[in-house]
Formats: sequence, C-alpha cells, structure tokens
Amino acid sequence: MRLVTLIRRFAFMAVAFAVCTTVDAQNIIYAGPDGTPTEGERCSTPEISPAQQAAVDAYLENFLAENPDAVNRQDTYLIPIAYHIITNTTGAGDVSDSDIEEQTAVLNGAFASMNIQFETASIDRTANNSWYTAGPGSGAESAMKNALAIDPASTLNFYTNNPGGGLLGWATFPDGCESCTYHGVVCLFSSLPNGTAAPYNEGDTGTHEVGHFVGLFHTFQGGCGPPGDSVPDTEPEANPRFGCPVGAVSCATPDPIENFMDYTDDDCMIEFTPGQGDRAHVQMAAFRPTMWVKVPVELVSFNATLNEDLVSFEWVTSSETNNSGFEIQMLADGQAEYSVLDFVAGHGTTTEVQHYTYTAGGLPSGTHMFRLKQVDYDGVFEYSNELEVTVGVPGTHVLESVYPNPFNPEATFRFGVNAQQNVRAELVDALGRVVSTLFEGSVSADAMQTVRIDGSGLPSGVYMIRLVGETFADAQSITLLK
Ligand SMILES: [Zn+2]
Repeated sequence: MRLVTLIRRFAFMAVAFAVCTTVDAQNIIYAGPDGTPTEGERCSTPEISPAQQAAVDAYLENFLAENPDAVNRQDTYLIPIAYHIITNTTGAGDVSDSDIEEQTAVLNGAFASMNIQFETASIDRTANNSWYTAGPGSGAESAMKNALAIDPASTLNFYTNNPGGGLLGWATFPDGCESCTYHGVVCLFSSLPNGTAAPYNEGDTGTHEVGHFVGLFHTFQGGCGPPGDSVPDTEPEANPRFGCPVGAVSCATPDPIENFMDYTDDDCMIEFTPGQGDRAHVQMAAFRPTMWVKVPVELVSFNATLNEDLVSFEWVTSSETNNSGFEIQMLADGQAEYSVLDFVAGHGTTTEVQHYTYTAGGLPSGTHMFRLKQVDYDGVFEYSNELEVTVGVPGTHVLESVYPNPFNPEATFRFGVNAQQNVRAELVDALGRVVSTLFEGSVSADAMQTVRIDGSGLPSGVYMIRLVGETFADAQSITLLK
C-alpha cells in the first residue's frame, strides 16, 4: 500500500549547499518504528565531489582499457551477505529470519538484470543501545562495524538498526580498501520487507544502498549536466524525486523515476539500466575483486539407474555460469581411458535449479565408470564425481573368450552371472580329468570376474575350461602350446 499522502517535501535546491552537489535536505515522511509519521532522509550515503567523481571515472576508464573483460555480462557473480541485526536492550529493532531471506530475494530480483546475485551467508543479532541508534559517521557506527564486520573483502556486511532522524539507510562506495571494516550498508530495520516504514518497506532501501555498495551514484548525481551519474543510459535528473511522479521532467527528458538509485517509493522503483550494470561490474572488478566471484556450475547431484542395458542418468545444478554443457563420458570395463558418449547442452548462466537427463543404450555387459565433464563457453572444464554401473549379463551368464589362445604358459578369461550364485571354473584335460580348479566362490551379479590360467606345470595339448554355476554350465576349449 502506498501512503503517498504522508510524503511531504522540502524543495531546497542543490546549489544552496556549498559542499553538496545534490539535495541533502529533502526529507521524507513515513511510518516510523513507533507507528507515527517520521521525517528524515531517504539515504545518507556520502556525496562525492565532482573532483572525486572525475578521479574515479578516470581510474575506471583506465582499468577497463587494461581489463577489457571486466564487464562480463555472460557471467553471474554471487555476493554473500552477513546480516547484523542490532536491537536495543528491550528487543526493539529485531527482524525475523524470514524477512531477512525476503530482503535477499528482493536484492536478487533487483540485481538479476545486472547478473549479480546474493545469498544469506550468516545472520547475527546484537542488543546494544548505542549501536541501535548509530548514525552515519558516528563513533557508535565505527564501534559496531569494527566489532561485527565479517570478512569485508569477500562479504557484504548488511546492518539494520534505527539510526534516528528518520534516516532510511546509507552505504559505502567501493574504494579499493577491501578489508576495511567500514564497508557495508546500514538500513533502518523497518525498511526490510514486511517492515512498518511504508512506503519504504519493501526492501528497496536495501536495493538502493547495495546499489551504492557496488558503485552506483544517485541518478540525480551532478544534476542535469555531464557527467551526471557517470552512467550513459540513465536520464539526467536535476533533483531527487519522491513518491512516483512518472513522466516528470527536470532536465530535457523524463526523469528516471523508476530507477532504484532515485528517491522514489519502494513500489515505484523497478529498474537498473544496462549502463548501471556495466558500471557495477567495472567498479566491483576494480575495487572489490576479492568479493567479485562468479557463480560456479553447482552440480548438486549426479545419479544413474539401470534398466537391463539402458543406463539413465539424472543430474541437477543449483546454479550455472557460462555453462556450454556436459559431456557424458564412459570408462568401459577393461578400457584404460574415458571416451565421450554424448553431449548435453547447458543453460548458460542461471541461478535457477536445472534438471538434466540422458539415457545410454546398447552398452556392453560389464562394470563401467561414468562421469560428466562440464564445459564452459571459454573451454574451462570440470569433472563430476564418477558413477560405477554394471550392465547386466544377458541370459543366465556370460563366458568371454580366453586370451591368448593358444597360450603359453598363461591366459585369462572373464565371466559374469545375472544372479548371485556359487560358481566353479575348472581346467579339464582331454581325458576329462580336472587338472586344476581355476575359480570357486560366490559371484554377485554386479561385476565381471577375471580368471587366470597357469599352464606352466602342464604338457602341451587341448584342454577345456568348464564353468559351472547353480543356474548354468558352459565350457570352451583352449590349447596350450609349448
Ligand atoms: Zn542513496
């Protein structure tokens, strides 16, 4: 529900403030934590000066020239979030785990077009009256972040508290100090999804502040003139907009009312532009490289089921990046190397769960190994776990040819059965006498047996191998030639 009528605006102009390029004093009014209308700032992320902006832009331009792959929109990057929920000592300010998960989901929806995704890595809760009301730049903020920050180089630290003054949140821009504990975002606890800070209670304060965290300026940065917000495809905007005045014009073209980096209501903010995505990629690659990790192809399962000589494979991925597909590889019984059975195309880049199936038919009997070779578009590959599958023996049993034949003094042969039973293999001479027992024991149906014949103490001649199970008997002749 939008409570537009609660919004009151103070239209100070940016030029009225010597140190700011944009309007800082435009206040919003929303339902405060105690339910009464509260007046404050939409965002208190520090403004940067035109000189600082120019220096950052020059650095990024240089970085991109040296790292042309830095804007890589084929890959998706995954940023872990450590949530730190600050309450006061009476418990005010708590946020449920499910609302935190909704906040992560809101971020994933908003940043999907940028190929940036998030996961809730940890949640901790701290009762501290000083930190509960910590505002931007305060000693309490530093103390809170120094105490609670988790691995700032690889993790987005997301704090919630009640900073007072009606402030909804603030963030830190990428600056190259990867492990500095001051990095992160702070949001009014009741701005998270299902909070009470209507019309700012759908989680887009988080989206907006994380937008700063990945390097985006306000859409009204710099007003109407270049370089604006240093993004070529966001329309210039003289001042922040509030409510949802779609179509309003403050420069030459309609203002980017629905952009997450404006100041409009949560249900009005619906988009980042492609240019903002590109800028976030460059900023993160340049200034937060440790955190800038691609979503890998996460193979969560790989299984096989056997139906006579058909082997059906199923595998599931939880996410994929740049995934060309999967080679199904087989190490056939008795072979030394894997060979490729077939190729199944992947889904490129996705954070959705994907299911795959493949059926191989006409496989020879024997115990084979199978694996997947996952191949990226750029040729990088990775192997799955290996599966062992024994393709059944047709009929009751199989007795393979002895090799070599004739032999001197050794030869081998293999046999298998289709049901577990006791089997005996004997070497019988031309007169029908058993000259040696080659094998005796219980044989299961899932493996071929290899049997060695040693003829070193026997004279040349024709012999029989006699194979006797509980459900069959078989034989083949073999010649010892010394
Ligand atoms: Zn902001």
